[in-house]
Amino acid sequence: MGTTATAQRLLLGKGRSRRRALFTDAHHRCLGFPRGLPYSADRGKKSVNRQTLDDLKQQIPLMGYLQAHDWRPARSLSRGRWMGLCPLHEDHKPSFLVDPHRNLFYCYGCGRGGDVIRLAELYHQVTFSQALVVLRQWRGAEPLLKDAAQFYQVQLNRHGEAVAYLHQRGVRSPELIEHMRIGYAPGGCLRGWLIQLGHSLPALCQAGLVTGGGYDAYVHRIVFPLEGNLYGRSLSPSAPPHRFLPGSKGGLYAWAQVQSYPEVILVEGLFDYAVLWGAGFRNITCSLGTHLNTRQLHQLGDAPRTVYLAFDSDRNGSGQQAAQDLSRTLRQRGIHARLVRLPEGHDPNSFFTQGGDERQFHALLEAALK
Ligand SMILES: [Zn+2]
Repeated sequence: MGTTATAQRLLLGKGRSRRRALFTDAHHRCLGFPRGLPYSADRGKKSVNRQTLDDLKQQIPLMGYLQAHDWRPARSLSRGRWMGLCPLHEDHKPSFLVDPHRNLFYCYGCGRGGDVIRLAELYHQVTFSQALVVLRQWRGAEPLLKDAAQFYQVQLNRHGEAVAYLHQRGVRSPELIEHMRIGYAPGGCLRGWLIQLGHSLPALCQAGLVTGGGYDAYVHRIVFPLEGNLYGRSLSPSAPPHRFLPGSKGGLYAWAQVQSYPEVILVEGLFDYAVLWGAGFRNITCSLGTHLNTRQLHQLGDAPRTVYLAFDSDRNGSGQQAAQDLSRTLRQRGIHARLVRLPEGHDPNSFFTQGGDERQFHALLEAALK
């Protein structure tokens, strides 16, 4: 459909003023067909009909999708429209216009615009049909993951081995467990519960909660809900320690609660996050690994701020190397980065669980290398 659509878009664009073009030509190609024609495959063979697309767009309002991906409006305009930083290009002053009533966006910076499907295409850098899959999964997986996370939370206190593991990692306070919505996957009981709630087995498999063989995917794992995913830390030394469900690990952990701080501490693991939060730090976030995805880099750079990188100080130096590489990347994007040097062989979690306290960690932040 690529060539047909492009040709039609070019035709539609002809002879119209730049101003009129806004919200007519610039948005997604489907909006260019006024009389309910289907998104057309070759020679009119129906691939996806317009009704299906309209339904999808109605179920996923553009504004809701943007906000779920951390987009925040910077100011309001007339007729209920909003302006904010563009999530599609490096934007320094708000040039991204959203019209929630018409479910359309347009960026004055990069000149791109359209509906929620077009946004998903550009944002996730996927094709049109892949964008439909992403949106359908997002729509379908959200309630499913919520139910799974709640189930795991209930399991936590029923399993002494899970609570003991959390204690050993410095996670004790009920307030912290509640804040991070920490749960436990014993294995062998999630599938039945979710099906009882009305979720379908294919949906569980598609989300990765249940394996192709029909078993719970997470067994003996501490579970942390993320945005659009669940991270599972194994209690068993024979299993791979870290697991995510298929798909993106999402943005920075709890970013909405952190983004207003001018100084932010970035750690690589959720247990590092947990002990720092437990010690009273609130300007803290986690990248879930030393490699930041585009979205996470974008978040760190969405306002002027200093980022303290408190990665593992492992004996082979890989954590510190990753921190150095990242600080270079951040500096190239105009973000101040400072490297926190933990004692050798420590990560923030072991630093606190082996006797370090808030005051000592503050000293490490103050000594952080520019
Ligand atoms: Zn843009």
